[in-house]
Order: sequence, then C-alpha cells, then structure tokens
Amino acid sequence: MGPPPTHCPEAQMAEILFPALFVLLALGLPVAFAMAISVFVALSFGSSYPNLVVVKEMFSGLDSFPLLAVPFFILAAEIMTGGAVTLAMLRLAQSLVGHLKGGLGHANVVSSAMFAGISGSALADAAGIVNDNGIMTDSHGRTSAPHVWAAGDCASFPYRGGRIRLESVPNAIDQAELVAENIMGADKEYVAKPWFWSDQYDVKLQIAGLNMGYDRVITRRSDADSVAFWYYRGDELLAVDAMNDPRGFMIGRRLIEAGKSPAPALIEDPNTDLKALLKS
Ligand SMILES: Cc1cc2nc3c(=O)[nH]c(=O)nc-3n(C[C@H](O)[C@H](O)[C@H](O)COP(=O)(O)OP(=O)(O)OC[C@H]3O[C@@H](n4cnc5c(N)ncnc54)[C@H](O)[C@@H]3O)c2cc1C
Repeated sequence: MGPPPTHCPEAQMAEILFPALFVLLALGLPVAFAMAISVFVALSFGSSYPNLVVVKEMFSGLDSFPLLAVPFFILAAEIMTGGAVTLAMLRLAQSLVGHLKGGLGHANVVSSAMFAGISGSALADAAGIVNDNGIMTDSHGRTSAPHVWAAGDCASFPYRGGRIRLESVPNAIDQAELVAENIMGADKEYVAKPWFWSDQYDVKLQIAGLNMGYDRVITRRSDADSVAFWYYRGDELLAVDAMNDPRGFMIGRRLIEAGKSPAPALIEDPNTDLKALLKS
C-alpha cells in the first residue's frame, strides 16, 4: 500500500474502485468476487491509509451485533420450529385475535411481537426499561424505570449529541463511580473521556478518544517497535491508537481531554517534541 497518508483518500479510492467493479462485472465475474477484488485493488493502489488501520476497520465492521443477530435469529427460528414452539405461539396468537376481522394479519402481528420479546434483552423487556443499543440512560445514569440506574457495558448514554455504549474497563469504572455518587444524591453528569488499553502478546495497545468520523490518519513512528496513529476530522484531533508507544498515547490523551488539536503537519514531523504541544 501507499505512503503514510497526508490527505483524504476517499475520492482517489472511488476513482479506482468503481471502474474496477464495472469492468469485472462486465467480464461476467460473480458479484461477490467482483466486489471483493475491486475493493482489494482500490485498497492496494488508491488508499493511503496504513495497512493496520485498514485491517482494524475491517474487523470493526464485522464486530456488529446486528450482523451477528441475523444468523442467530435464523438459527433460533429453526430450533423453535423444530421443537414446535413456533407452532404453539402461532396457535396462541390465533386464539387471541384470530376471530377478529382480518384475523390472519392480527395473529401475524401478535406472534411477531412475541418473537421480538423473547429474542431481545429479556430482563429489560420484562422490566419495561427502554433500550437503545443497551439500557438507555440519561446523562446521570438513570434508566427509564424509577430508582434503576445503569453503568458499564450495558448502558447507552448521551455523548456529543448522540448516544453511545462503551465496552472498556476504564469506562465501566468511571461510570460506575459517578452513578454511585448520583445514587447518593450528587446529581453529576457523566462526561465520558474514552480510553482503552489492552496487552496483545508483545504489543501494548492504548487508545485515547474515539476515531468515529475521521477523514485523515497520521502515522508517527517512534522506533521500529513503536507506532501511533493520530486520527483527524478536518483539523480536529479525534483519537490516537498507540502500539508500544505509551508516551504518544499519554500526550494524545491529554491533548484530546484538553480539547487541543495540534496541526497534523506537526504530528507528521518526526522532529516535533510532542510534550511541547501540551503547553501550546
Ligand atoms: C474477551 C474480552 C477481552 C476484553 N479485553 C479488554 C481489555 O483489554 N481492556 C478493556 O478495557 N476492556 C476489555 N474488555 C471489556 C471489559 O471486560 C468490559 O468493558 C468490562 O468488564 C465491563 O464491565 P461491566 O462491569 O460493565 O460488566 P461485566 O464485567 O460484564 O460485569 C457484569 C456482571 O454482571 C453479572 N450478571 C449478568 N447478568 C446478571 C444477572 N441477571 N444477575 C446477576 N448478575 C448478573 C455478570 O456475571 C458479570 O459478573 C474485554 C472484554 C472481553 C469479553
């Protein structure tokens, strides 16, 4: 793949991706192969994102609960049908509303509602707590049920105008501490400062911020074993992924938490003293 990125590469990739796709389709290649090969060609010749970022994005794309839900939903239906549970539910729905005018349609809706109930987050459904990619809370950690609070992996909370659910130990600890204070009457808002660490064999992975919506990645290598990827949207620093680079991570984290965005050219320059950026 190409050199370290210095500009937004989407347009350049599209110029290769679509002609390649149409040529392969015109040659009669099956659609799936045409898509896979054209993406590979576009990534190889048109992308200036680092290889590691491309691989990470591919896995992030796969790590989708709705995507996983599709095969499991079909499997659950097969098991329920094999065990005659589906039939029993349809019969129950039929006996409840089947006698009404348009009964077949009503029975269909009632049985679908039962399926939705048993295939979702059963405990929250049973308690009547509102869900939105997890147990929905307000900025203080309160759920829709009185006196019920949520924190950690299960909680989706307001973040930068939207909602988010974070799966990391630091978030679970910070949010739980705040919710505990609020239960005692502190009345504090949770302002998430996402960061993450993990040891993967000989690689210490540390992430500061969230790179959602980035359009540019700057690669900064400290030595042969240490590298950090700095994610920008326009001129705004969103996140830093550091591999065996605790210094890059710590400075990136402090910059993000302080709302500072050093010019990408400064990060790209190996002679820049990162620590000095904290004072500017
Ligand atoms: C394989 C793996 C690797 C990970 N690696 C990292 C990492 O390197 N770094 C990092 O920051 N994060 C990592 N995470 C994520 C991290 O573990 C979670 O974000 C964190 O543990 C969430 O804490 P929690 O308290 O919200 O939930 P949990 O730790 O899941 O605790 C929930 C507890 O509730 C219990 N429970 C569930 N249902 C009930 C019930 N009905 N009644 C009573 N108890 C119940 C569960 O048994 C569990 O003990 C990893 C997660 C996984 C799965």
